[in-house]
Amino acid sequence: VKKKAGKYEKQAQPVKQTAVLGAGIMGGGIAYQSASKGTPILMKDIKDEALELGLKESRKLFAKQVERKKLTTEQMAEKLTNIRPTLSYGDFGNVDLVVEAVVENPKVKGAVLAEVEESVGEGTILTSNTSTISINRLAQNLKRPENFCGMHFFNPVHRMPLVEVIRGAKTSDAAVGATVAYARAMGKTPIVVNDCPGFLVNRILFPYFGGFSFLVEQGADFQRVDKVMEKFGWPMGPAYLLDVVGLDTAVHAGEVMAEGFPDRMGSMSGEGDKKSAIQLMYENDRLGQKNDKGFYAYE
Ligand code: NAD
Repeated sequence: VKKKAGKYEKQAQPVKQTAVLGAGIMGGGIAYQSASKGTPILMKDIKDEALELGLKESRKLFAKQVERKKLTTEQMAEKLTNIRPTLSYGDFGNVDLVVEAVVENPKVKGAVLAEVEESVGEGTILTSNTSTISINRLAQNLKRPENFCGMHFFNPVHRMPLVEVIRGAKTSDAAVGATVAYARAMGKTPIVVNDCPGFLVNRILFPYFGGFSFLVEQGADFQRVDKVMEKFGWPMGPAYLLDVVGLDTAVHAGEVMAEGFPDRMGSMSGEGDKKSAIQLMYENDRLGQKNDKGFYAYE
């Protein structure tokens, strides 16, 4: 029996002030989307440069809207004030909902979630934008696991409509409800899914990446594969998609998937001592669009 996402919203506390941890590809995108739809958001990172980059991306996206005459420069300036960059948890006391979007590493995420839990009120909802790590695993570090669930956006955040809301074993209906309501306020389409490594979309996407990697290892030309998959009807091929995602994030997420489903995710992590094409790209610092070189080169 499927439960409709709307069912939970009736029990939700209003989400008026939010925060995102991490100002990278996803954190920056989440901050932009929230600000654009009118919910103020604190954007926290550990590096000043990351905050600056995150803000720059938002400015670029708002400026495009001004160019297209969808916003005036005054409206752009006003929307930008919805994003407050910070290096500390100082102002987290009145935050209703936090989205954690730091690196895809269970230890780092566990520590960051436990840290932020100390800085927020008892009723604050904590969510993670993890691509693959089980919500029950991340909840182990928390004192109030009932207030915690997954809130998984897709890249680029401002264009991708879907948000997976992942319910852990201890997640309350109120936490799911607030997260569903916030996703809708951001103009997204939330779906509530059960917990497992990779949730729903990445259970499908990572075997696809693995299949692509295996083809390349057998000598396929990645550019031709991309062209074929575009003709098949996908908006972009797997090599370009991996460049957009980030090869580092793909490798880390792939490790979580291989650990969760050892018999089914092999080709992503290679075979025995033989490394996969995706791993080799990562080890050669070809991280994709984030450092201007992945399968393709960027300017
Ligand atoms: P990224 O490398 O672009 O950004 C990560 C940011 O986190 C960096 O700015 C880093 O400085 C910051 N950070 C690290 N430790 C921190 C801490 N303790 N506190 C605050 N900030 C900290 O990575 P990303 O692609 O934005 O991925 C972030 C998360 O989103 C990961 O869990 C990833 O799996 C998930 N995700 C990524 C994609 C994608 O396509 N890239 C899609 C969906 C979900």
